[in-house]
Amino acid sequence: MRKAAVDMPPFYVMEVLERAKELDRQGRMIIHLEVGEPDFPTPSCILEAAAKAMSGGVVRYTASVGLPELREAIAEYYVERYGVSVSPDQMVVTNGSSPGLLLAFSALLEEGEEVIMSDPCYPCYPNLVRFLNGLPVLVKVDERDGFRYDFDDVNERISSKTKAIVINSPNNPTGHVLDAQTMRDIAEIGLTVVSDEIYNGLIYEGEEHSILEFTDNAFVVSGFSKQFAMTGWRLGYVIAPKNYAPILRKLMQNFFISANTISQYAGITALHEAAPDVQRMVGIFDKRRRLITKRLREIDFGIAVDPTGAFYVLANAKKFTNDSLKFAFEILEKTGVGVTPGIDFGSNAEGYIRFSYANSIENISAGLNKLEKYLENR
Ligand code: PMP
Repeated sequence: MRKAAVDMPPFYVMEVLERAKELDRQGRMIIHLEVGEPDFPTPSCILEAAAKAMSGGVVRYTASVGLPELREAIAEYYVERYGVSVSPDQMVVTNGSSPGLLLAFSALLEEGEEVIMSDPCYPCYPNLVRFLNGLPVLVKVDERDGFRYDFDDVNERISSKTKAIVINSPNNPTGHVLDAQTMRDIAEIGLTVVSDEIYNGLIYEGEEHSILEFTDNAFVVSGFSKQFAMTGWRLGYVIAPKNYAPILRKLMQNFFISANTISQYAGITALHEAAPDVQRMVGIFDKRRRLITKRLREIDFGIAVDPTGAFYVLANAKKFTNDSLKFAFEILEKTGVGVTPGIDFGSNAEGYIRFSYANSIENISAGLNKLEKYLENR
């Protein structure tokens, strides 16, 4: 067995989720605030496009880089939303953004090269980098800055071996959205930026940006899972620097052949027609965000700065625990509420709990009421 495969850590959240599902099966009413996916159904215009593709017999492989119409629609989206021009030739359509991360890091990294990323961050980044024999270099971000990258901290960690800097805005697990100046500063360092923009479109205050507004020396990894409520459709893409496009294409051919064809047709319609649906979902997420931050503060969790994007709150639970994994299981067993331990996202998030508000106002309220009652008597 390959050591790097054996050593790859699990997602603890999946273990919480599995236990929560087991309790569900035993007939216990579990409220899921651990989930990382929208609870909304996929918008009907997207469903209809998929049904049409299926009944039209669209069941074969596509080109490895994806359907030209979809790549054109993605290019149009980047012009409209961010004012940046990208060529469909720079893109590879993938089975979700997760394979996109694998493609980007596989194309970039030589053994021993370093990749700067925040602590906490989405666990796939350090896990994939280590798997590819690279070295994650973790830059701590602080709740008092809303978990924002401190530019000097990033700069200080750059060495002759640094290959890339990872950014993720809007952020999982913190809900932080990077401001334009920080993005520009990071771009101006001149290293390749790997920008995970999967939560783009899910923003409730201020402005969201793409790294491509500030540099071409970037891999944008994104997809349809979050803003279009399409997690199970497995559709994403990578936009790469032009010289990397042929390499990504070869990797895609060898790893995956092509992304799911029916989903690709559905993705074209998502980009062309589902903006009003996204707007509606964003409005609902925002109401939930306001409720969950207010209630968590009342229950004495620490939230120094309101999260403004994605659908997560990373709440300081140090009043209650120093062991977030144990605490997450305790909350699940005692209250029937699923939450994610901060430790999943890095040692700097130990003592924190991530709450997802991809659940209804009623469920969020009921879950936090149960949690409040339990913690009062704990
Ligand atoms: N990046 C981040 C930050 C995520 O939170 C997720 C999903 N949890 C992904 C990438 C992967 O999403 P998908 O493969 O569904 O596009």
